[in-house]
Amino acid sequence: GLAERLQAVMQRLRGKGKVTEADVKEAMREVRLALLEADVNFKVVKTFINRVKERAVGQEVLKSLTPGQQVIKVVNEELTELMGGEQSKLVKSNRPPTVIMMVGLQGAGKTTTSGKLARYLSKQNHHPLLVAADVYRPAAIRQLQVLGEQLDTPVFSLGEKEDPVKIAEQGVAYAKEHHHDYVIIDTAGRLHIDETMMEELKAIREKVQPDEVLLVVDAMTGQDAVNVAESFNKKLGLTGVVLTKLDGDTRGGAALSVKAVTNCPIKFVGMGEKTDALEPFFPDRMASRILGMGDVLTLIEKAQAAVDAEKARDLERKMRTQTFTLEDFLDQLQQVRKMGPLEDMLAMLPGAGQIKQLKNFKVDEKQIARVEAIIRSMTKEEKLHPEIINASRRKRIAKGSGTTVQDVNRLLKQFEDMKKMMKQFSSMAKMAKKKKRGF
Ligand code: GDP
Ligand code: MG
Repeated sequence: GLAERLQAVMQRLRGKGKVTEADVKEAMREVRLALLEADVNFKVVKTFINRVKERAVGQEVLKSLTPGQQVIKVVNEELTELMGGEQSKLVKSNRPPTVIMMVGLQGAGKTTTSGKLARYLSKQNHHPLLVAADVYRPAAIRQLQVLGEQLDTPVFSLGEKEDPVKIAEQGVAYAKEHHHDYVIIDTAGRLHIDETMMEELKAIREKVQPDEVLLVVDAMTGQDAVNVAESFNKKLGLTGVVLTKLDGDTRGGAALSVKAVTNCPIKFVGMGEKTDALEPFFPDRMASRILGMGDVLTLIEKAQAAVDAEKARDLERKMRTQTFTLEDFLDQLQQVRKMGPLEDMLAMLPGAGQIKQLKNFKVDEKQIARVEAIIRSMTKEEKLHPEIINASRRKRIAKGSGTTVQDVNRLLKQFEDMKKMMKQFSSMAKMAKKKKRGF
């Protein structure tokens, strides 16, 4: 699959201390082939490769990353950009109900996804109404009703003799009357795009003025999914795409090309037949998943944004040799401020989840200023050897920093906990290092 192939290319780059232009060229040739074989639109591939090459060759050099890592970083960023960059959330109407119209070819997963969306919204304390506007497919209404019963979500229907436009219209009116804040309209698909279907969908759209027109497409159909998205968008106008069956044996091409070709964001992905198998789509997470680097990449990014490499190395050494002082602690707190919670940072490191002190270690951002004041009120001697801080010194420090003795006690306790945690962490890190090389 795509992921495996890209991961192999990245793996080869990863360890490299030096990357020549020829290395980049070779890697990009392989990335290009992998993308084409995964059924990514060829124009999209071309633009993508050019952008990566341009950036990978003439880019800013970051101290904290090896050249191999930098190329990976660029590939990752460009993949993310290709899929839309930011997460594209479901629209919410100022005047409820928010109306969501589901469209797509037969068998793409509209009815299933309507149910999944209803569940997703209910979990967020909304009260969706499902509307059965597919009057053509045998048992389509029944299928939605069964889902509704399972999910405890009402289903509006007028049977299969009525006009879908009227069903949609009355469904929305019913939702208003019964205080549903979301309406999900399940429409009929065809095996292929045809004018009759499009006309019907347009008529529904005109009538109910949906906030979202979501196209449901089957990821397994690859390039076809992208073509379907393009025609629906041209003929009907879409606000977003739901990519289903991503759990199956897909080549991944659809996920990568939809946004670039149609300019419609992917909003959700379907990961299975069950009603809980729907996930909001995050371009950055998808890119990392494809490159197989998960959170390690996020860690590199955060680290590189906020910490200078020397400082990180210094900290690592201090953790290893256990010469971490209150000065360092203060330094850490200041960096935490820039990077986000320390617990999040550490949780991303492989194995850190097993450290039990981590669970109790919370940095309350509001307290950082107080901690700073306390540490600044200590003498150099006290900062280096906190064990000498006795009762009278505690009183003096509290007074000097405008805090209380309890505050000082709490800080010293936190510092001790952190030292313990680091001791554990450093032994875990040593074990991890033995196991694998690379990042
Ligand atoms: P519709 O004709 O567009 O309404 O499609 P349906 O909702 O009836 O779904 C067609 C088939 O695809 C059903 O068998 C669903 O269980 C299946 N399906 C839908 N979404 C997914 C998904 O994300 N993963 C998998 N594996 N199957 C799905
Ligand atoms: Mg259906």
